[in-house]
Amino acid sequence: MDYNRLAQLLFPNIDRLPSDIENEFPKRELPEGAKVTRFAPSPTGFVHFGGLFPTTVAERLAHQSGGVLYLRIEDTDAKREVPGAAEALIRTLSVYGVDFDEGAVIGEDGKICDKGIYGPYKQSMRGSIYQTYAKQLVREGKAYPCFTTEEELEELSKVNKKEEIKNTDWQAEAEARRAQMLAQRNFTIEDVEKNLAEGNPFVLRILADGDPERKIKFTDLVKGNMEIPENDEDFVLLKSDGIPTYHFAHAVDDHLMGTTHVIRGEEWLPSLAKHLQLFRYLGFRAPKYMHIAQIMRLDEAGNKKKLSKRDMGANMDDYTRMGYCPEAVCEYVMTLLNSNYEEWRMQNPDKSYRDFPFNIKKMSVSGCLFDFNKLGDVSKNVISKMDAKAVTEKITAWALEFDKELGELLARDVSYAEKIFAIGRGGKKPRKDLATWADARGYMGFFYDELFALEASYDEKYDKNDIRKVLEGFLESYDEFDDMNTWFDKIKAIGEGLGYTSDMKAYKADPSAFKGNVADVSMFIRLAVIGKLNAPDMYSVMQILGKERVENRIKDMLNTL
Ligand code: GLU
Repeated sequence: MDYNRLAQLLFPNIDRLPSDIENEFPKRELPEGAKVTRFAPSPTGFVHFGGLFPTTVAERLAHQSGGVLYLRIEDTDAKREVPGAAEALIRTLSVYGVDFDEGAVIGEDGKICDKGIYGPYKQSMRGSIYQTYAKQLVREGKAYPCFTTEEELEELSKVNKKEEIKNTDWQAEAEARRAQMLAQRNFTIEDVEKNLAEGNPFVLRILADGDPERKIKFTDLVKGNMEIPENDEDFVLLKSDGIPTYHFAHAVDDHLMGTTHVIRGEEWLPSLAKHLQLFRYLGFRAPKYMHIAQIMRLDEAGNKKKLSKRDMGANMDDYTRMGYCPEAVCEYVMTLLNSNYEEWRMQNPDKSYRDFPFNIKKMSVSGCLFDFNKLGDVSKNVISKMDAKAVTEKITAWALEFDKELGELLARDVSYAEKIFAIGRGGKKPRKDLATWADARGYMGFFYDELFALEASYDEKYDKNDIRKVLEGFLESYDEFDDMNTWFDKIKAIGEGLGYTSDMKAYKADPSAFKGNVADVSMFIRLAVIGKLNAPDMYSVMQILGKERVENRIKDMLNTL
């Protein structure tokens, strides 16, 4: 077979050689050990938690080593593309600390454009590049055209399915069809010419040289050493419209763009033999691979399930809506990524997660478990370390979008809001009330008359008259300029007068000697002022509420008794 002629017949418009392209994509000049990683999404929808996870690995590995993280848009499946998805994806990832040095970026006009010299970074724009390499493979007798149409292939796959039910007739039919397809490996130039002349579309298939009985030794940086069977499937490189398959585009792009580490989901592991074969055929050096296990979750019955696209917590936009702060989500991702992260965090409470020496060897091989409770705990810690100004700003911004009523109240008087969020903040043991911004309303809504509501009532066991007397006594004696001790002494005194001791030791020794203790007295007042049985430090709360509000609420309560 005259392969040169075949190549010319199939790709008459491709006049460059791979070497011309190689010249346009110079080797990257980077410091020793610098890693080049990428995120290569098919822009079909939202950013999934399972996508943020490997992307954070790619980001850490690149930036920790002084390398490059770039974004490549894998839009070769036009049927699945969702308009605007790429832009949304770039914005979302940026919120979660993943910013690309290079690749597809959002330009000033809000549209996707290229940054960097290894573009175009959108695969749909790279047609002639792939075809140049494809033509070369044909020249070398490593790829051939296959004129079996999509419809025929669909038929074949139907037949294959029937074959699964072990019907010998179907098996025979499947064999015959497969043989017919494979026969095209040996097509003569005349056969090809005839098909082309008839206008029959073709796909380009690799001429696979593998034998599945033989194994390739391979080391995945996460999964470790493995042996995978060689590939003997003549898989498609170019579809009939000249657009590459993922396999082919992966090899060509990751080679030309100088990717050192391919970090991707483990669903690609079964295709790895194909990829290694392709790198060999093309004369490229294969990158290092890290196949990341799927994120799991526990279902209602406590069984591990894959975190699917439909699960709550899969779509990163869910987190925004639920009021998780990105810093907390990033922190949580880090705890999932490296088993020693939490220990490091305890030793370095104030450092950025970016200072953590991320280590591939500390990654879970089998997959991480996604857990909202854990995320909540991590988040409480993260938020507890923020200052009041930052918390106020973030909650206000969130609430203006997702809880307008609260947002407007917060924005109405920023310094009032900051005082609220300053309670219990800044010390050695900060309060940890908030896991999400959405928790704010329940935690501090009572500071606003518009949101104040009685959420509990006095226990029947208390004498209503005592409650009344406590509230009246408090109302009479309250002075907002009292310091905390004076304020509390007054409360104690009111209680003592009614038989509620402030001597906790004596109370514990013989509760029956008293009507109650000072905690009961405080609670009478707290419920009136705050509307709940427990709340942050009541003295601070009253200081912020101001005399008028405190007194009004006590009066209101007295009216209901
Ligand atoms: N476009 C592929 C995907 O979205 C990329 C896989 C890879 O990172 O190579 O699954």
